[in-house]
Amino acid sequence: MGTKFVEKADEEGFLLIDGAVKIEGFIPEDSVSCHKCQEPAIYYEPFDAFICAYCNIWLEGRCGDAGCRYCENRPEKPLPNENQRRRMRHS
Ligand SMILES: [Zn+2]
Ligand SMILES: [Zn+2]
Repeated sequence: MGTKFVEKADEEGFLLIDGAVKIEGFIPEDSVSCHKCQEPAIYYEPFDAFICAYCNIWLEGRCGDAGCRYCENRPEKPLPNENQRRRMRHS
């Protein structure tokens, strides 16, 4: 082992989650904590929102702007969760 669940990817501005999922984002120094697990939240750049990678949840609601390009494309969960729900797509 020795791989952290959340670590910096080799590419600047990216994080590697669970050694498998690379996302564009970072953990700000004054980051908020997840209300469930208390781990520091990740700022998930493409969706302009904080997430918890451990719980795989969004820590912010949608902004409520109709036609907001961030929220419009927001999946139900921030991470694909490869281990648990591989290939789960609605047909
Ligand atoms: Zn959490
Ligand atoms: Zn929005």
